[in-house]
Amino acid sequence: MVFVLPLVFVPGLALGSFLGVVAARVPLRRSIVHPGSACMSCEAPIRWYDNVPVFSYALLRGRCRRCGVRIPPRDLAIELATSFLLVGCVLAFGFTLKTAAAAVACGALVVVTATDLERRIVPNRVVLPAAAAVLALRTAGHLSPEWALGAIGAAGFLFLAALAHPGGMGMGDVKLALLIGALLGRTTPVAILLALFLALVPSVVLIARHGAGARKLGIPFAPFLAAGAVIALFAGEPILHAYLGVMS
Ligand SMILES: [Zn+2]
Repeated sequence: MVFVLPLVFVPGLALGSFLGVVAARVPLRRSIVHPGSACMSCEAPIRWYDNVPVFSYALLRGRCRRCGVRIPPRDLAIELATSFLLVGCVLAFGFTLKTAAAAVACGALVVVTATDLERRIVPNRVVLPAAAAVLALRTAGHLSPEWALGAIGAAGFLFLAALAHPGGMGMGDVKLALLIGALLGRTTPVAILLALFLALVPSVVLIARHGAGARKLGIPFAPFLAAGAVIALFAGEPILHAYLGVMS
């Protein structure tokens, strides 16, 4: 286990660095491989030794080497979130197909959290391939209709919710639910209910501040779905059992 951490954590940072590029460029429909990383301000190409996740950020004190503009801390946040999630998956599920599925899903969740917060976009080009990969990996790991049913059930539920409250959830959230359902199977309702519960907090704050008109402001829902999915991924079974225990 001691060896697992550096073997997973460091590649996780590198993967997170790539996901930061994906989150920044996919909504703009720019290539994710070309050109290489560059300063958003002076457009100086970032040298490899200035592009080492976390370490370069610390060394450069979060500023561009050439023009000194602040590097957005979002990149650091994405790198660390990706890395911690990967380590969590390996520690919880070992080196299994479940871990592979969970890693793909967590990567996509990190990206859509960033794009939804920044631009109110949940990119199809991230969510749909990830959902297909997660469904294939989960079904290969445990042959059962559970994963496909989870995907269809979750997407169907959010689709009805989006119809009932236009302006609340969007079709991006419906597609994200496909991914989450395929990952979680029967613990999917835990993720959705947690997401709705977590989203209540900012909704109440907005309505308190702006009155009923706040409904039109809306809040990005993907980050709450992502949070609910991650909690359900690691603790869905105990939560489900506790709930069913209370009900019986
Ligand atoms: Zn610069």
